[in-house]
Amino acid sequence: MQKNTSLRRRIGLLALTGILAAAVWLVGGVVLWLMLGQQTKLEIDAQHIYDVSSAKVFEATRTLRGLERLAREGDALACIADPAERKQRRQLLQSLVHDAALQGDAETRALVTRSFATLDQALTVAGTSSGASGCTQATALWAPIKHDLLNRSEAVGAEVADLATAEADQILQTTSDARIMLLTVAGALALASLTWFGVLHYAIARPVVRLSKSLLQARTGQAIADGSEFIRELQLLHDAAVALGGAHQELQTARSKLEHLAHTDALTGLANRRMFELHSGQAFVHARRYQEAVSVVVFDIDHFKHINDHYGHDGGDVVLRDLGHYLQNAVRDADRPIARMGGEEFALFLSHAPTQVAQQTAERLRKGIEALEVTMPSGELIQFTASLGVAQGSDRDADLTALLRRADQALYQAKRNGRNRVETAD
Ligand code: GH3
Ligand code: MG
Ligand code: MG
Repeated sequence: MQKNTSLRRRIGLLALTGILAAAVWLVGGVVLWLMLGQQTKLEIDAQHIYDVSSAKVFEATRTLRGLERLAREGDALACIADPAERKQRRQLLQSLVHDAALQGDAETRALVTRSFATLDQALTVAGTSSGASGCTQATALWAPIKHDLLNRSEAVGAEVADLATAEADQILQTTSDARIMLLTVAGALALASLTWFGVLHYAIARPVVRLSKSLLQARTGQAIADGSEFIRELQLLHDAAVALGGAHQELQTARSKLEHLAHTDALTGLANRRMFELHSGQAFVHARRYQEAVSVVVFDIDHFKHINDHYGHDGGDVVLRDLGHYLQNAVRDADRPIARMGGEEFALFLSHAPTQVAQQTAERLRKGIEALEVTMPSGELIQFTASLGVAQGSDRDADLTALLRRADQALYQAKRNGRNRVETAD
C-alpha cells in the first residue's frame, strides 16, 4: 500500500509542478508580450528625446558661438581705425549675433543688449580718441562685458552638457529596467521548465528506465538487481485493477440476480405476474400493430384447498413446486413467459398462435398435469388436475388485461363444466 502511495505521490507531484510550470509560462508569455509593446514605445520615446535634445543642443551651440563671437569681435572692432569699416562690421556683428541671441534665455538676451550698448560706448571712445590710445581705452571699457560674455557662453555650454547627460541617463535607465525585467522573466521560465523536467524525470523517466533495465535483466535470466520498486508498484496497481474488476463483476452478478428475483416466483421458479404483464403487454402491443394472432392460456389447480387440507400447506407447496418444474420443461422458449399469477393460478402467453394452436397447447398441458405424480412429504404419491381457459386476442380487447379477463371467464366455464378441461372464450 505504501508503494502505491509513493507512485500516486509522484503522479500528484508531476501534475502539480506541471500546473505551476504552465502558470509560470503563461504569466511569462504575457509579460514578454507586454514588454514587446513597451519596447516599441521606448524606442519611439528615445527617438523623441534624441530629436528634442538635438534641437536644444543645436540652438544652445548657436547661442554660445554668438556670445563668443561677440566677445572676440568687440576687441577687434575697438581697434579698427577706419570709422566706415568699424560701422559696417558693427552692423554685421549685430545681425549675426542678434539671431543667435534670440535663441537664448532672458538673461542671455539681456546680456547681449547690454553688450551692444557697451560696444557702442567703446566705439564712441575709440572714435573720439585717435590711434592706439583710443583702441586701449575702448578695449578697457569692453573688457568687463567681454568677461561676462565668455562666462555666459561657458554657462550655456555647461547647461547643454547637463541636459544631454540627463536625457541620456533617462534612456539608459529605461533600457536597463527593461533588461532586468527580461532577465527575471527568462530566469522564471527557465526555472519552471527545469523543475518540470526534473519532476518528469523523477516520476516517469527514471522508473521507466529502471523498468526497462529490469526487463532486460529478466530476459537474460539475471536476478533483478534492486527488486525494482517500480515493478512492485505496477504489480500493486495491477492487483488493484484486478480486484476492482472482480468487484465490478460481482456487482453485475448481484444485480442480475436481483433482477431475476424481482421477476421470478420463488416457489415455482416461473415468472411472476409482474414479469408476465411486462413481457406479454409488450408482445400484445407488437402483435396488434402487425396483425399477428396471439393467445393466452390461464389455468387453475382443481380443488387445491383439498390438497392443502389433506397434506398440509407444505404438501400444497410441493405440488406447486413440481408443477412449476413440469411447466418449465413442457413449454417452448418461444411461448414464454409462463407465469404463476398468484396462489395456484398460472398463465401462458402464446405468440403467433390462433385459437386452435392455443387449444392444442392447453390440452397438452392439461394431460401432462393430469399425468403428473407428486410425492408428498409423507411419501405418498398424489395426482391432481387443472382447469384451463383459452382466449385469442381480438380487436375487442383494449389491452392485455381485457384478453386475460376473457380467458379467465373461459377458465370459470371449465370449472363450472366439471373441471379438468379446456374451455375457449368466444
Ligand atoms: P377450485 O377447483 O374451484 O379452484 O378450488 P380450489 O380449492 O382450488 O379453490 P381456490 O382457488 O379458492 O383455492 C386456492 C387455495 O390455494 C387457497 C389458498 O389457501 C391456497 N394457496 C394459495 N397460495 C398458496 C401457496 O403458496 N401455497 C399453498 N400451499 N397454498 C396456497
Ligand atoms: Mg383452484
Ligand atoms: Mg384459484
